[in-house]
Amino acid sequence: MANRRPFIGGNWKMNLHKQDALALASALADRVTGDAVQVAVFPAFPYLLPVATVLHERSAPIAVGAQDFYIKPNGAYTGEVSLSMLQDCGVTTVLVGHSERRHVLGETDPLINDKVLAALEAGMDVILAIGEKIEQREAGKTDAINIGQLGYGLAGVSSEQMKRVTVAYEPVWAIGTGKTATPEDAQKAHAVIRQAIAFMFDQTIADGVRIQYGGSMKGSNAAELLAQPDIDGGLIGGAALKAEEFAAIIDAAAVPA
Ligand code: PEP
Repeated sequence: MANRRPFIGGNWKMNLHKQDALALASALADRVTGDAVQVAVFPAFPYLLPVATVLHERSAPIAVGAQDFYIKPNGAYTGEVSLSMLQDCGVTTVLVGHSERRHVLGETDPLINDKVLAALEAGMDVILAIGEKIEQREAGKTDAINIGQLGYGLAGVSSEQMKRVTVAYEPVWAIGTGKTATPEDAQKAHAVIRQAIAFMFDQTIADGVRIQYGGSMKGSNAAELLAQPDIDGGLIGGAALKAEEFAAIIDAAAVPA
């Protein structure tokens, strides 16, 4: 069994205005000090630079990530933000394929693949989110959907680039709903995802890839989810907006499974 360092991401989504975002960054800098767990937060665009500045000034071991970006380096793309602009703001990690971008903002698998490739090409770390909707789960299609989104998302990614890819399994029905996959169901999905990565690349790469669980993870359920052998961290929404709740998840991830 590979020794994978747990990775906890906090997706702040379109929440927290400046004062609250900076206060949360500062509280996290107080609370998160060790390096047993990799930690990243994903503030809204306007606050990336100020949040990165606070974390940097406090020498906090917390990376700053972006929730989105556009694939082109510059040009006439009104409203969009490039990877190099994000890098200027201290961003090292990007989210791609989040269910809200897929199902609310209409992002397709080919665009998601373009984004994965562009971000890796730019030297970013990538979290590729995948997961089934409730009707797909009820139709017994969970694994097929996950494998399909994974295959599309990672098409053209090299074995070397896979070292900078984390996969987030986020069943859509569990995101922001308070419903969580049982640890057993989540583990089953994660094991299939890892097997698919072994098929697409090789077993060594599959053993090294972190697979986060996302979907109403919180302080009270994190430990049993993170104790599963193929769950290597979490992508957290609601519970990432409160320093103590988020830190409790990080603490749970620091306990060896
Ligand atoms: C998410 O947005 O990725 C997420 C998992 O949200 P929540 O933790 O609120 O379900």
